[in-house]
Amino acid sequence: MSALPFLPFALPEIGEEEIQEVATCLRSGWLTTGPKTRQFEQDFEAVLNAMNPDLPPVQAIAVNSATAGLHLALEALGIGPGDEVIVPTHTFTATAEVVRYMGADVVLVDVLPGSLNIDLQAARKAVTARTKAIMPVHYAGLAVDMPALLAFAQEFNLRVVEDAAHAFPTLHNGVAVGKFNSDAAVFSFYANKTMTTGEGGMVVSRHPELIARAKTMRLHGINRDVFDRFTAKTPSWYYEVVAPGFKYNLTDIASAIGIHQLKKSSQFQRRREAIANRYSEALADLPLVLPEHAGPNGLHAWHLYVVRLADHTPKTRDDVVEALYAQGIGCSVHYIPLHLQPYWRDRYALKASDFPVSQKAYERMLSIPLYSKMTDADVDRVIAAMHAVFAHA
Ligand SMILES: *Cc1c(COP(=O)(O)O)cnc(C)c1O
Repeated sequence: MSALPFLPFALPEIGEEEIQEVATCLRSGWLTTGPKTRQFEQDFEAVLNAMNPDLPPVQAIAVNSATAGLHLALEALGIGPGDEVIVPTHTFTATAEVVRYMGADVVLVDVLPGSLNIDLQAARKAVTARTKAIMPVHYAGLAVDMPALLAFAQEFNLRVVEDAAHAFPTLHNGVAVGKFNSDAAVFSFYANKTMTTGEGGMVVSRHPELIARAKTMRLHGINRDVFDRFTAKTPSWYYEVVAPGFKYNLTDIASAIGIHQLKKSSQFQRRREAIANRYSEALADLPLVLPEHAGPNGLHAWHLYVVRLADHTPKTRDDVVEALYAQGIGCSVHYIPLHLQPYWRDRYALKASDFPVSQKAYERMLSIPLYSKMTDADVDRVIAAMHAVFAHA
């Protein structure tokens, strides 16, 4: 029907700088974690620390996925069997699975109808004597109300690990996600995120002990500080294993990409925001619930642009997805809530009726294309396609 090429739901934006830096890395002979990764970590720290110089500085360590980073953060906090961790149901399974890696239990809670971020009233009802931590997700790139979340965590003495996979760069009340007084925030550089290294992630924390433990566990439990202390006296082949660690380090090939993606991240955010603003204006007259924008002194990373069908529309989500595909436009759904996934549903005997906000959102939502490489013509095409879907109601 449509002569236009298929418009995917997401695409990375990779320039000549990234390609050249990868080529330099390959020619250097140093492929695994080394100087490029150290530079990427330092650059990432510098960006966050420059954003809020008044707040305590953070350290950053690169890992081969955000999932790995979330696991390292929980490990460093000593989360284990018998502990419970509160997680919003409206997220990707990675947020919750790392809790099970540690042998702790996941307690899923519902989200707020506007932002689809964690509902602290639902979280309050979920707290027990075993609750040890809470993992807020900055859904779609819009920050959780972190002052409220941190006050809640303090009230119940909970550790806080932020799933910031969608949230670079994101601000709440002028504070960058990564700089809040949580235990750690973990960013993702998966191929479709707001910046990418193909696969990769970054653990950020203001707590040097957490960073030191995560660094050791990132690479087989080898303690580099012990190593460094003795390098002057010991031969270069010597190392000490202090724990059964993981293999979660990021390669220099990936970091070569990240160094340049990071430099472009503000430019990427501005383009994503411009597209989101255009959507919010042009789709306002359709029977849709459009996504929340950031409040004053906020910044939305706009990883996703999620629309929900209004209550009165006769269309279903599947009708809309199908009609968009017929017009050559890709879309997706974020997320099939965890309470519907067989593992989580069966393990914790979960009922959809316990998560009414997430359940309703899921049934009526779709994510339309949003990425920095989209042209204005691509954006207009999506808008026209959305109007066409509802014109034939
Ligand atoms: C992408 C994503 C992750 C996992 O990131 P990886 O880097 O692929 O491990 C975790 N949580 C959320 C909400 C995500 O979207």
